[in-house]
Amino acid sequence: IFSDVPQAPPVAVFKLTADFREDSHPQKVNLGVGAYRTDDSQPWVLPVVKKVERLIVEDDSLNHEYLPILGLPEFRSASSKVALGDDSPAIKENRVGGVQALGGTGALRIGAEFLRRWYNGTNNTATPVYVSAPTWENHNAVFADAGFKDIRPYHYWDAAKRGLDLAGLLDDLEKAPEHSIFVLHACAHNPTGTDPTQEEWKKIAEIMKRRKLFVFFDSAYQGFASGSLEKDAWAIRFFVSEGFELFVAQSFSKNFGLYNERVGNLTVVAQDNENLTRILSQMEKIVRTTWSNPPSQGARIVSKTLNSDIIGNVKTMADRVLLMRDQLKSKLQALGTPGTWDHITQQIGMFSFTGLNPKQVEYMIKEKHVYLMASGRINMCGLTTKNIDYVAQSIHEAVTK
Ligand code: PMP
Repeated sequence: IFSDVPQAPPVAVFKLTADFREDSHPQKVNLGVGAYRTDDSQPWVLPVVKKVERLIVEDDSLNHEYLPILGLPEFRSASSKVALGDDSPAIKENRVGGVQALGGTGALRIGAEFLRRWYNGTNNTATPVYVSAPTWENHNAVFADAGFKDIRPYHYWDAAKRGLDLAGLLDDLEKAPEHSIFVLHACAHNPTGTDPTQEEWKKIAEIMKRRKLFVFFDSAYQGFASGSLEKDAWAIRFFVSEGFELFVAQSFSKNFGLYNERVGNLTVVAQDNENLTRILSQMEKIVRTTWSNPPSQGARIVSKTLNSDIIGNVKTMADRVLLMRDQLKSKLQALGTPGTWDHITQQIGMFSFTGLNPKQVEYMIKEKHVYLMASGRINMCGLTTKNIDYVAQSIHEAVTK
């Protein structure tokens, strides 16, 4: 009965990891998947997470009963506070709610499903959804699978200047049909590592408000861009202070190092409490038929960890990335590798968009056993003081051969 099922292509980033694992070259390096590594190339369980996990195991008051459909209440409110700030007026006005989700992906998917059902008419699959060009590869598919038929790129990356194409972005905002949905990366844009400045965000917000465009923030790297949870939430908080009703899909995969626990939250900022209650009642219906109720371990860890405790560990990760950025740039400059490499230290967060073209990427993988995405994106956390000379030399060869 399934004989006509076609083979689907593999997911690029996971395929890259599988290829890396099979490679037996002693100097192989994985700069593909966006996961933190220590300077010994090992995954890192954050010390504060380990501490809280021990407390959870020892706590006899906890059990494995079902959580409410919308999730662990203290996790939902803690998450919204991380995004909007402890003293957020919108939270005080009781018009902010959260939906615990399976990772940032789950939060995006639940949010997309809600928007298709209830935004801009009911079941309006024609509302345009704009995602940045380029963007995290899953954005398109998540919105398409939620039923949206018109997914469009908006200008973001200017390859020639290796920076933000602000004019193109603002022009797309001006021209987008009213009520279009815009997916905005809250900080540490994946894959370009390039964010708008505060002044640029203000221009974006001004147009979005005037043109009645819906803001859907994707916040997967809070803390990773600057080492500060507050700074990295600046754009979100600014939009909320401007009176936007919006969604924020939050992932705790990277900043808590909880990749496989699937911890996410969809923060909803509504017009008022009564409206929020109705929105959450519909969210509950969506979750009920999707995963019915979420898992507890990651949510307990996040809600029991104070922001002040987590940020120390996040800073350790962010600082190591900064060091690797500095070193990679200096090494390429010392080698005299053609081109400018300033963008490596100008870009922020986990990734660097190197500017290597697909042929150069292929050379890196096939000849040098250095694995990176076809777009030229590298995960800066995959670099270590032990492999950075080899990676710099490999880039040099790829560019000059
Ligand atoms: N959004 C962006 C921009 C991401 O890079 C990622 C993770 N790669 C996610 C969302 C999803 O995160 P999660 O693993 O928590 O689903």
